[in-house]
Amino acid sequence: MLASEGESVFPFRASWLSPSELIYTADGRITRRPRRPRPERGIVSAHTAQAFSEMTMGFEQQTKTEEWVPLTDPDLFREASYVDGAWCAADDGTHIEVSNPADGSVVGQVPDMGADETRRAIAAARRAFPAWRSLLPQERGALLQAWYRLMLEHKEDLATLMTLEQGKPLAEALGEIDYAASFIEWFAEEAKRAYGDTVPSHLPGRRLVVVREPIGVVATVTPWNFPSAMLTRKAAAALAAGCTVVARPASETPFSALALAELADRAGLPAGVFSVLTGRAPAIVGELCANPNVRAVSFTGSTEIGRLLLAQGASTVKKMSMELGGHAPFIVFPDVDFEEAVAGAMVAKFQTSGQDCLAANRIFVHEELYERFVAAFAEATAALRVGPGLEPDVQIGPLMNEKAVAKCEEHVADALEKGARLLAGGRRHDLGGLFFEPTVLADVTPEMKICREETFGPVAAVIPFGDEATVIEAANDTEYGLAAYVYARDIGRIWRVVDRLEYGMVAVNGVKMTGPPIPFGGVKQSGLGREGSRYGIDEYTELKYVCFGAT
Ligand code: NAP
Repeated sequence: MLASEGESVFPFRASWLSPSELIYTADGRITRRPRRPRPERGIVSAHTAQAFSEMTMGFEQQTKTEEWVPLTDPDLFREASYVDGAWCAADDGTHIEVSNPADGSVVGQVPDMGADETRRAIAAARRAFPAWRSLLPQERGALLQAWYRLMLEHKEDLATLMTLEQGKPLAEALGEIDYAASFIEWFAEEAKRAYGDTVPSHLPGRRLVVVREPIGVVATVTPWNFPSAMLTRKAAAALAAGCTVVARPASETPFSALALAELADRAGLPAGVFSVLTGRAPAIVGELCANPNVRAVSFTGSTEIGRLLLAQGASTVKKMSMELGGHAPFIVFPDVDFEEAVAGAMVAKFQTSGQDCLAANRIFVHEELYERFVAAFAEATAALRVGPGLEPDVQIGPLMNEKAVAKCEEHVADALEKGARLLAGGRRHDLGGLFFEPTVLADVTPEMKICREETFGPVAAVIPFGDEATVIEAANDTEYGLAAYVYARDIGRIWRVVDRLEYGMVAVNGVKMTGPPIPFGGVKQSGLGREGSRYGIDEYTELKYVCFGAT
């Protein structure tokens, strides 16, 4: 069983009976509950939506998107944006459909909002800011703690929703909910510790003080591969600092973010403090970047879109935080515990089905171990269980979309054409759709595309190396600099290699390295700024220097 970002238990079994009739079994019980009608145009209050929900219990499904959603708390499934404390449709009533990557069925639809709705959400966040920042950090912390507890209470539903829209195995989704919630708990505590400084004065008769203030309205833009954790890692820090947040989740995975909005509402976050907008990216994100009332944008996604947003934010000189792409090297020296290194490479490559910014994209193995390593790695890869994420014991789910599958095919074909050896997988999976076989390519060389671009799928590239200097140079030969992995025992070598790797994060003799206490982030074109840890709050605060005349 692959490890996931957080430890998780798999407390129930879920199965598919047919794509259009989802059945969720918990303790042998079948739950079939109707979904509420979608709110019509205009603002619908949360209370009204709740009343709709209660009124419609027991109604038969009427449209394709009003199928059964397998949640014990169906109110977590929201097909509306959450703005200024209310559930809303798009002004023009249009929607975007969200599909299940495991079988292409429609999970639901969300409003296709645009610039006008975005401006209203920003205005609401601006109105909410003075009161929110004025709360004691303990008071903001208490509301965040309530949000955190609600996430854990509804962990199974949140994970099921995530697997439905994102495709990842349910065990990994459960791990992500723990991981996502942990950032809320962490920053609920950090709110109390946003310390400033007193500075020894260089001016006679003066007292010098530096205070840390919330920056204002913060926009978050997040990807589909970690739909909950990428959002909470930003929003919890911003909210704790006293900022208000307008969140824009990825089009493929809006329901996880909307469920978090529902829980934020239940936790008692005031209207306008945390809004979630769904719809096409260019209109919403374009407005978030251009609007002078948004003071910071925090983005996680590809380096390509990160560059675009940096340019868009320049017109209003916004503070921009960027968590961008990665191309992690995984370096195995000869003096390692062989089994541990193979197991580590399996997790580092295949968790989140390879759709992970931390994925080990280039596995460098010393030539003394090379043939033995690729044989063991290929055998373990071929044994991975591929299937829909809600099926028990699945380790590799579907990819997010057709583009992702096509990229895996392209990288495999390009590598084979240029002389790589195929040791496992290599093609679309027999399950069809968006499933791709876990794949191992050996003898990969720098001119192959897989050595340059993020594959973002379950295709592993293994590369032999002879000496330390060569492998460090090869590992750094990329525009990316997010994470790197090193397996070695010689302590001198470990420090030499760690010192010279141009990466924001390095894991030595292990794979799991993330969590709230660490500063997550990359160097070079993998990003700007850090998330989590005591540094995470810096992205959402400004320093104000006050010079007191003390005479
Ligand atoms: P992406 O295509 O860059 O999309 C990320 C976000 O930007 C989504 O919300 C997307 O919306 C939005 N977006 C897309 N085009 C846009 C445009 N023209 N203007 C404004 N916004 C736009 O990335 P992705 O494919 O979702 O995620 C995978 C990438 O994220 C990988 O490169 C991965 O390495 C990176 N990532 C990095 C980290 C990290 O912490 N460093 C963590 C996770 C993922 P739509 O959904 O509507 O396209």
